[in-house]
Amino acid sequence: MTPTRQGSFHLFRLAGIDVYLHWSWFLVAVYGISGRAPRYSSLAWPVLEYLALFCIVLMHEFGHALACRQVGGQANQIVLWPLGGVAYVAPPQRPGATLWSIAAGPLVNVVLAPLLGIAWFFVHAAGWGETMPNAYSFIRTLFVINGALLCFNLLPVYPLDGGQILQALLWFVFGRARSLMITTVVGFIGGVGLILLAIRVSDLWFGILCVFILMNCWRGLTQARVLARVAKLPHRAGFACPSCHQPPILGPIWRCDRCGQPFDTFETHAACPHCGAQFAVTGCPECGMVYPFNEWVVAPPVSTSAHR
Ligand SMILES: [Zn+2]
Ligand SMILES: [Zn+2]
Ligand SMILES: [Zn+2]
Repeated sequence: MTPTRQGSFHLFRLAGIDVYLHWSWFLVAVYGISGRAPRYSSLAWPVLEYLALFCIVLMHEFGHALACRQVGGQANQIVLWPLGGVAYVAPPQRPGATLWSIAAGPLVNVVLAPLLGIAWFFVHAAGWGETMPNAYSFIRTLFVINGALLCFNLLPVYPLDGGQILQALLWFVFGRARSLMITTVVGFIGGVGLILLAIRVSDLWFGILCVFILMNCWRGLTQARVLARVAKLPHRAGFACPSCHQPPILGPIWRCDRCGQPFDTFETHAACPHCGAQFAVTGCPECGMVYPFNEWVVAPPVSTSAHR
């Protein structure tokens, strides 16, 4: 449903983040560049405009990735593909950390908007519209593209950034599972509305994007139902995940790498009761992060008693 490193070229590595370009980008680039060509007098300009569009997308994705790292999450990969870019971010599963990781992407476009606006103002004042129409059209289009990307991404339709921001905000009030459920239902309604719009303006590319949105809403809804079921299971007191702060589920849900038997790692302090294997790290069933066992221990409340 989203592009992976498979079928992608490694472009470069910046700040420890690998940037890949999916092969399908080239196919759609031909379509995208030919659609832009009529506005310019030479082919170099639409090529430059298409590349600039993806530079803006890349900066947006770096916003997500760097913000995610800042709050202690994992982000080391960005894949560019025809529908834009995908930053593989795994923020700590807390509403505040997730909110910042998602909001930082559109924030890049918010910063770019006045910069591109000022550039447009100056080239307009300098009369480039007459003297250098290609360069003028290029700068004006970048301003419009950046604004359009910002507005579209902020639509409260999951999995667009706006939808994920909505989910993170609802998370503070309703918890992770219910916030995701509400957001994906809103996303379905929005996605169907966008499909009707795509049919009305008969834009195939926009229609494909809407199908992508609906597929992601379905996946999000399925995930929300799993999360709701997990939340109802009994949890063990005295331990909490260092990342998502959730206490671990009670029961034999961990599986031994060596003998393949299931066991409850918190009962045996990260040792397999069947074969005796000792594990250096314990994985969180809720958020998937792994930490040494002693980092899971929640310090008992400090006694305020004055007795010795
Ligand atoms: Zn984004
Ligand atoms: Zn966790
Ligand atoms: Zn074992």
